[in-house]
Amino acid sequence: TGLSVGIDVGGTKCLGIALDADGEIVAEERRPTPRGDGSIPLLIDTLAELADALGPYDELGVGVPGLVTRAGVLRAAPNLDGVADVDIAGRLGAEVGHRVRVDNDATCATVAEWMFGAAQGVSDMVLVTLGTGIGGGLVQSGHLQRGRNGFAGEYGHMVVDPAGPPCPCGRRGCWERYASGSGLARLAREAAVGRRVSRVLELAGGDPEAVRGEMVQQAAREGDADSLAVIDDFGRWVAIGLVSLSNALDPEMFVLGGGLAAGADLYLDPIKAWYQELIYQPDLRPMPRIEFARWSERAGAVGASLLWAAHDAW
Ligand code: BGC
Ligand code: ZN
Repeated sequence: TGLSVGIDVGGTKCLGIALDADGEIVAEERRPTPRGDGSIPLLIDTLAELADALGPYDELGVGVPGLVTRAGVLRAAPNLDGVADVDIAGRLGAEVGHRVRVDNDATCATVAEWMFGAAQGVSDMVLVTLGTGIGGGLVQSGHLQRGRNGFAGEYGHMVVDPAGPPCPCGRRGCWERYASGSGLARLAREAAVGRRVSRVLELAGGDPEAVRGEMVQQAAREGDADSLAVIDDFGRWVAIGLVSLSNALDPEMFVLGGGLAAGADLYLDPIKAWYQELIYQPDLRPMPRIEFARWSERAGAVGASLLWAAHDAW
């Protein structure tokens, strides 16, 4: 058929796409991600049904938000409560009667952006997805890096404040509590409790608990000054992590993806300004390129569809 199907399992939704041989998205489907106790069989069913809706296909790949072994077993997924130790490739493969390749969602996004996206031809790049959590991928000297266990790129759980809010990974103050979509919502909620960001509160029907990142984006786009201040604070938290990654890895380029890529125009300037303010020895190095993913929030799904093709290149 010439089609490859890729599915990105997110904290809230599963996004599936079909990619043709020219690298064009020809179909797209979404389903809510099953959550909670006993959700694993439901998740496998949802993935099988999505693949079916997008097929027939030659190749099927899935990106999942957690630690995936080199053999394709999902060992832990902090933002999918109840999901651990699932051989997704084996179980889904049996369900759809087709071989399936599975990898970490941000590794998939890295494949998409590096092969056919913003980072084509870049030999040292760091990819960061800003979604429900924060995911990461890494290309160094022209090679995708996977680490000893296949777990490289877990930037979201770098601790930026040991006394910070608890993280579903079991520790406190992880970067993804601040600089992800849920982090943005939390920053806005805190401002709302302090009776700032009244426009955001209004969009949330007056309930601080109902505040979501998209509402902050919308209010900021309307020019609401309090929301713009929350976005600036958010940009600072993103930059705090990027600066540490630069200190560790010295990349030529950062690619930012994930659900928040849709608000790229709002964040890019604050992120760059804070990066420049916080980086160690800015005079000794050019500012790395910081760009949003060409495939935007679809990068994970596109990369999942490319897993079979990409594997030969690794
Ligand atoms: C997980 C990563 C995942 C990221 C984005 C993090 O909480 O630990 O494995 O890539 O969220 O979904
Ligand atoms: Zn964590």
